[in-house]
Amino acid sequence: MTLSKDFLEKIKNKLTEEQTRIQGELERIGKPSEVPGEYETRFNDIGTDEDENASEVEEYTDNLALEKNLEGQLKDINEALVRIEDGTYGFCENCQQEIDPERLLAYPSAKTCIKCK
Ligand SMILES: [Zn+2]
Repeated sequence: MTLSKDFLEKIKNKLTEEQTRIQGELERIGKPSEVPGEYETRFNDIGTDEDENASEVEEYTDNLALEKNLEGQLKDINEALVRIEDGTYGFCENCQQEIDPERLLAYPSAKTCIKCK
């Protein structure tokens, strides 16, 4: 492993920041479900008019997609943090080669190298 302790520390900070940001977003549109790290999209009841119902559904659909996306990102971040802890961080999941540190800095939760992306 060629990644220095300082480098990993920097990555860890980036991941933790990202984690906090995403959790905040998720809490805004959903509520935590019984499964840790997973959220349920909130359905906002704004009214009973046909127009209001339509926008409720539209908002819910948008949030549902956003929530799935954020949840996926959060999962990648949590996994990256685990890999830092157990010393397997920075290796491509596919070809097992070391991932370019530049790529890790730009995209700390990367699981694959540029070639395998
Ligand atoms: Zn690879």
